[in-house]
Amino acid sequence: MSKIVGIDLGTTNSLVATVDSGIPLVLADAGGKRLTPSVVHLSKPGEKPLVGLPASRLRALRPSETVYSVKRFIGRRANELTDTDADVPYPLSRSGSGPATIDLHGHSWTPEEISAEVLKKLRADAESSLGESVTRAVITVPAYFNDAQRNATKRAGELAGFTVERIINEPTAAALAYGLDKLKEKSKIAVYDLGGGTFDLSILELNEAVFQVIATHGNTRLGGDDIDRAVTEHLASQVEQQSGKVLRHTGTRQASPEQLIVWSKLREAAEQAKIKLSTENETDIALPFLLPDYSLSYRLTRDELERIARPIVLRTREHCLRSLADAGLEARDLDQVILVGGQTRMPLVRQLVAEWFGCAEFEETRGGLRLGTEYHEAGGPLLNTGVNPDEAVALGAAIQAAILSGDLRNVLLLDVTPLSLGLETFGGLMNVIIPRNTTIPVKAGEMFTTAVDNQRDMLIHVLQGERERAKDNWSLGKFTLEFGPAPRGVPRVGVQFEIDANGILNVLARDTRTGKEKIVPMKSAVDVDDEAVTRMVEESVEHAFADLATRRWVEAKLKASATAKAARKCLADTRDDLEPEYITQVEAALQAVSDALATEQPNTGCGDTKLLQSACKALEEATQPLAELLMERVTEALLNQRGIT
Ligand code: AMP
Repeated sequence: MSKIVGIDLGTTNSLVATVDSGIPLVLADAGGKRLTPSVVHLSKPGEKPLVGLPASRLRALRPSETVYSVKRFIGRRANELTDTDADVPYPLSRSGSGPATIDLHGHSWTPEEISAEVLKKLRADAESSLGESVTRAVITVPAYFNDAQRNATKRAGELAGFTVERIINEPTAAALAYGLDKLKEKSKIAVYDLGGGTFDLSILELNEAVFQVIATHGNTRLGGDDIDRAVTEHLASQVEQQSGKVLRHTGTRQASPEQLIVWSKLREAAEQAKIKLSTENETDIALPFLLPDYSLSYRLTRDELERIARPIVLRTREHCLRSLADAGLEARDLDQVILVGGQTRMPLVRQLVAEWFGCAEFEETRGGLRLGTEYHEAGGPLLNTGVNPDEAVALGAAIQAAILSGDLRNVLLLDVTPLSLGLETFGGLMNVIIPRNTTIPVKAGEMFTTAVDNQRDMLIHVLQGERERAKDNWSLGKFTLEFGPAPRGVPRVGVQFEIDANGILNVLARDTRTGKEKIVPMKSAVDVDDEAVTRMVEESVEHAFADLATRRWVEAKLKASATAKAARKCLADTRDDLEPEYITQVEAALQAVSDALATEQPNTGCGDTKLLQSACKALEEATQPLAELLMERVTEALLNQRGIT
């Protein structure tokens, strides 16, 4: 089996990671770079696109052919994109209800095709770094991504030649990377993720070794890019003041190619300066011959940057508050606040987040923060900055990948049951014990009894699927639990399903009278091919009415058969004391039940349920005097036994 890699397919940067000898690490490309800008340059038709850093460099020179931030468009319809969404210098089509496309050189590129180019590069980098073919991946997506966005991301992976083993939420991946050993068994964590283009604040709960996203809020148009844009504006004002030239295009007039190049250069310089100012207090920006007769030379200080950036960072607060409100929590209820995304390296971001969440009285040490454990002890959450914020998601994806491939044990599987699990019961029906989408690990059980007298054992047939009839679901395994003979309905067999953190289903069956039990491991209840799951769910929807009709029929049939059997026995036991007309009446009612049972069609396994139900009701009414007579006899016999007359 080939290795499964973890991929953070980011708006700004993408990374590929793996777990080597138990240690998660991000893989570098041939140039030693671990972050691949999610940028694709589409030069000429038929020419191979340039991906990553070389494409990013062309963003300044060939803005209209260089696609970035395509994650904003993945899985979204062209006509749902707003003007702000579409504010990109490359030709983005926004008409029609189909996917948004980038129309270049006679080809309409879908966002997943562009993302696939980034993924192909990551795959090639991983292959040369690991020295083996890499065909399986876990890819992360924001927690708020809907099904269409998740499916499109999966398709991008497939276009790049991957089998996408799992799509997981970015905050969950980040929490995994931050290590579970550092967390209490029941922890509540906030993941503050400020990347290049997006922001989200997710609240996760770690409960019995499983993470669950309990609230998430964010803005897909808020991130480091906005700070870059604001700094660029600031630099442009300086250029305009010093050179006397106008850089801004006004009204409807399109910017000239030269203007676009100037802006792109300013923007690149702005981002570099911003990054530098995370560790320095000031930086010199020099852009020789930015204009034919003008060179920019400007000193930007951290104070100035923070003044520009503060309003942008402050916009993230509202989402933090909303997430907390949705989760019904206050900041002090959290155990940790985890920082994710390259932009959280900015000291101002750390300072504000620490303030808002009451994390720490921090002091600055050479650009970083020393976090106040004292404060944490006083009750506030700990601001956790222990992992590279731009690598956390990829590392977490790699950890999840290693869990899936069995390379990492004794760690959690953050998962839900993809399909319902249950048992075959009377009449070949599925009895669900653990419904689909239940978070694992999980334990659930039910009590069963026998359908016929003197039954000596019970067949435990474990099923997986969404259909009403056992035979339409998948069989995971069978075993038999033996017990002493007893009248039907008397034995009590408790069946418990337990799915452990590795997705393994153990089925326990116990005869409660004797205490005799069996525990049988089944195959993984979680490792199911995604396509097969989709097919199963689609089929259950498609056949929902027919399945329900079958269930109703089978249930009516079971009841009618049991009633008829009991009536026949009663009739035989009391025949001598009954009037001939009454016997004929009961026999007619019995015949009506048999006729109704005979309406079952062999091809559908279904008959006339209403007819059967009313025949059964009529039989019950007809045999009411019989039941009373029998009751009298039993009472009489009991009194006789005790010598009472
Ligand atoms: P991500 O989307 O997580 O890759 O984050 C990318 C964003 O983080 C970009 O806006 C970068 O400019 C920003 N960024 C990366 N490193 C730093 C840093 N050291 N200080 C401030 N911002 C940074």
